[in-house]
Amino acid sequence: MNSSEKEWDAICRKCGECCFEKLEDEYGEIIYLKKACRYLDIHTRKCRIFERRLEINRSCVKLTEKLVMKLSWLPPNCGYRIAGESREEQKRGKRNRKK
Ligand code: SF4
Repeated sequence: MNSSEKEWDAICRKCGECCFEKLEDEYGEIIYLKKACRYLDIHTRKCRIFERRLEINRSCVKLTEKLVMKLSWLPPNCGYRIAGESREEQKRGKRNRKK
């Protein structure tokens, strides 16, 4: 893992909340369920197959900088979501200052 990957990885709060099943209702609202991914250790909230998760669990999603802003199902307190929203705000601020 290189340093930028480590920095990216450090943004994750390791809360495991994204590893619970969720549903999207007809209004686009995300409903978080109590059933966790089979690979999540419920006590530590860590993925038991983290290094090989994408290869073992085909439904696992690799979170990238571009992707996190498109995913409506990341919980509001997700470190990636907060970092992404903050970056978006900074970009908007820069654009507004140029006008
Ligand atoms: S919800 Fe966000 S911060 Fe929490 S484990 Fe998932 S990716 Fe990391």
